[in-house]
Amino acid sequence: MIESFQPAHADYLRDESRRAGRAERIAFPRTAADVLDALAEARAHRMPVTAQGARTGVTGGAVPEGGLVLNLSHMDQILAAGNAEMRVQPGATLAAIRAAVPPGFYFAPDPTEPSASIGGMISCNSSGALSFLHGPTRNHILGLRVATLAGEILDLRRGRDRTDGLRFALGSLSGELPPLRRPAVKNAAGYFIDPDMDLVDLFVGSEGTLGVVVEATLRLLPAPGAVWGLMAFLPSTAAVVGFVDALRANQRSEVGIPPTTYHQPPTAPRLAALEYFDSNCLVFLREHADELASKGISVPALPDGSACVYAEWHAPDAAAAEAALLAAAERLPEFGADPDACILADNFHDLEKLKLFRHSAPEMVNSAIDERRKIHPGLVKLGTDMSVPDARLADVLALYETDLAATDLEHLIFGHIGANHLHVNILPRHPADYAAGRALYARWAAQIIAWGGSISAEHGIGKLKRDLFRQMAGDPALAQMRELKLQFDPDWLLNPGTLLESAQANENVWTG
Ligand SMILES: Cc1cc2nc3c(=O)[nH]c(=O)nc-3n(C[C@H](O)[C@H](O)[C@H](O)COP(=O)(O)OP(=O)(O)OC[C@H]3O[C@@H](n4cnc5c(N)ncnc54)[C@H](O)[C@@H]3O)c2cc1C
Repeated sequence: MIESFQPAHADYLRDESRRAGRAERIAFPRTAADVLDALAEARAHRMPVTAQGARTGVTGGAVPEGGLVLNLSHMDQILAAGNAEMRVQPGATLAAIRAAVPPGFYFAPDPTEPSASIGGMISCNSSGALSFLHGPTRNHILGLRVATLAGEILDLRRGRDRTDGLRFALGSLSGELPPLRRPAVKNAAGYFIDPDMDLVDLFVGSEGTLGVVVEATLRLLPAPGAVWGLMAFLPSTAAVVGFVDALRANQRSEVGIPPTTYHQPPTAPRLAALEYFDSNCLVFLREHADELASKGISVPALPDGSACVYAEWHAPDAAAAEAALLAAAERLPEFGADPDACILADNFHDLEKLKLFRHSAPEMVNSAIDERRKIHPGLVKLGTDMSVPDARLADVLALYETDLAATDLEHLIFGHIGANHLHVNILPRHPADYAAGRALYARWAAQIIAWGGSISAEHGIGKLKRDLFRQMAGDPALAQMRELKLQFDPDWLLNPGTLLESAQANENVWTG
């Protein structure tokens, strides 16, 4: 099953970070037994293994640094789809999962890229717009089957398989988890550890460093009776923050496991998404309107000089959704905005149109950078993924805007403002821009860590954010994480270089 790596496999050296790695072997397993065989082979030869899903990750997590590429895209079966649960292989894409969900239900995690695999989403604990209401992927994973380097398949079910305090027993492995802390914000950086925790949660967000996900059981939620969305245009950043605070005043996003009531259909309107696009982002998308049109994406009429907040409500019926939306729109004049200038979506077709438009921002940035790489091959996008506590939303926007205004860097800001999680995208035109952007990035990270935020709210650490993660977690916590990984991976073979730097003494000895 394991093949030697050929030039025809070159694509498997890359992910959406646009970084390229190296590999000597590749395997496309179809079953959990195939994965165990590949891991046994890796262990026998002390060969590093890099798990890959759909390679849409943006932090280089799936980029191999030598050894075996274990590409799970051929394990893409939907195994069972019931009313409240779905069982899938790890290579099933988000698009395929959505298409297989039974009528009347939905799968809430919604990262912008529907070609992502569920294995990758689980490993990065991905999020999307609806994470404002429903939390990240973690909250929607009921069970996992995980292949380990010990040669076992761990069969884990939420609510059944838990730690005793911090003690765990997993197949032939047992031990104690380190008492790690994490910031009280939306966070996808590092291992998730709590006393008396579900063991499923140890693997969600672990970026493939502890084991390989070979099957997942997903939680499906009953679909709301009505979904309505509103794009509102506001004249200033202060107005944006005021409007966002007003909308979310009675409903905070859930960064942990949502209350069980969220597993029932709404009996009253719930704010489900709160997204942001700065004025640069709107101008950028308008400038690319023709290109977007050729992809079937229409750009709505966008007022000049405004920033945009998109809000979405899930409600028991259309009347309740309309009431929530009108109540929000009525508050706009307080913030200097015109309710009549809003764009409203009250049906599936219009909601999809707005969603496609919103989702086009990261894609158009990537294709703009690809064009520039033709002149400067080393150029890559700089995209932040940091989150802060509620009270720091205005501060973080001011930090970004003030620093960027002092440069001539091309930039735009969009993202999940309801969770104080914004993506600043810097589009370098030449290497000097890239260096200037990186310096800003480092400065922002230091400030955001000091504010109690996270340097990665949804993309994970991968290979590109280890330095920032070190600043955030600190050396003692990193040492504890390394010890934890060594319990599962004594030869440091699984996804080496992702999340944690190799532990010197245990570096693998593979020579290809
Ligand atoms: C245009 C665009 C928009 C995006 N928008 C979002 C967004 O809104 N929200 C968001 O969270 N992310 C977003 N992303 C990032 C990316 O889509 C997610 O991180 C996604 O979850 C990665 O899934 P994947 O299958 O492509 O994983 P890969 O890139 O293949 O791998 C990601 C990580 O998971 C590990 N892994 C993969 N499969 C397994 C497995 N079965 N077992 C163990 N480890 C595994 C890999 O080793 C790697 O460390 C976006 C990316 C793009 C290109």
